[in-house]
Amino acid sequence: MSFPPIRPELAGIEPYGAPQLPLDVAPVQLNVNENPYGPSPACIADIATAAAEAAVTLNRYPDREFTALRAALADYLSKDAPVTPDMVWAANGSNEVMLQLLQAFGGPGRTVLSFAPTYSMYPEYARDTHTEWVAGTREDDFSLDLDKARALVDEIRPSVVLLPSPNNPTGTALPPVAVGLLCEAVGDNGIVVVDEAYGEFRRAGVPSALESLATHRNLVVTRTMSKAFAGAGLRLGYLAAHPAITDAIRVVRLPYHLSAVTQAVALAALRHAPELLDKVDDLRAERDRTVDWLREQGHEVADSDANYVLFGGFADRHAVWQGLLDRGVLIREVGPDGWLRVSIGTAAEMDAFKNALTEVTA
Ligand SMILES: *Cc1c(COP(=O)(O)O)cnc(C)c1O
Repeated sequence: MSFPPIRPELAGIEPYGAPQLPLDVAPVQLNVNENPYGPSPACIADIATAAAEAAVTLNRYPDREFTALRAALADYLSKDAPVTPDMVWAANGSNEVMLQLLQAFGGPGRTVLSFAPTYSMYPEYARDTHTEWVAGTREDDFSLDLDKARALVDEIRPSVVLLPSPNNPTGTALPPVAVGLLCEAVGDNGIVVVDEAYGEFRRAGVPSALESLATHRNLVVTRTMSKAFAGAGLRLGYLAAHPAITDAIRVVRLPYHLSAVTQAVALAALRHAPELLDKVDDLRAERDRTVDWLREQGHEVADSDANYVLFGGFADRHAVWQGLLDRGVLIREVGPDGWLRVSIGTAAEMDAFKNALTEVTA
């Protein structure tokens, strides 16, 4: 036996994660879909006060049901569809929310179904919860063929269907008809999780899966404060679902999993929601300009409802990625072979990206 005596299927596996490079190596960081705009001075001050207030009672465990935060999140989601606090659950990032979903609804003898290309963390939740992972495939334009999707659900009988909308890394949103069809095909045998980490960036007229909650009791919609809310460092993800589903997650959560500081800071940030989300429209416009520009340059570009763009047609994508990095621009080598993903930054950062790409592909 080699040391350490880790589970055999984990031996030698590299931990997941995009390269985190220092700013002097890569001053333009467009690789993990962060919001390039930080909180305002007023928001920072409110967060500092909230953290200081939480510190006064740090000798006590926090409210394990995070009652005030659930109410604030329900209130925020209710601009898309009616959501009550008992439909809301939160954890340290939506990655933890989804892991908890697999802990409660996956497990040995059960299967989680997704459609590739998709978020590279999903197979890891499956592995870590001993759930079988099955990935169908998307069409050439990265949409789902609904007949094929239904046939696969009928064949696999998944306990969990896990789909990002907009999809990462392609930016493709899932139409409501697809959400409804999958929920019906899965029925009471499982849950359908629509991961709306980038939901706030969707183009005008593209609905949120939140609108389907009232008609499908097996639907779960996850969101995060990491992207549109400019709170990646906060680690706060959440979901909306039928109260029986949120209730079931309470069985697998660790005691007091959301710290008092996290709860207080998330509440303070939510009080500034309009101003934090203020930059979302600018980022959407910058995204659309980036799509147009890349197409003008003759690249293949996937339509995007997110704050990133997948573009391709490269015989050697690693050389392009490296060429950009040599010019101080860090993007992500992810997705099908020949494609790269760039996150949308400030106008100045996108200019740096465009100049570097022009040089590299000249
Ligand atoms: C970024 C991202 C998340 C959010 O992760 P957090 O843990 O909330 O930071 C979830 N799903 C997808 C597909 C993502 O790209």
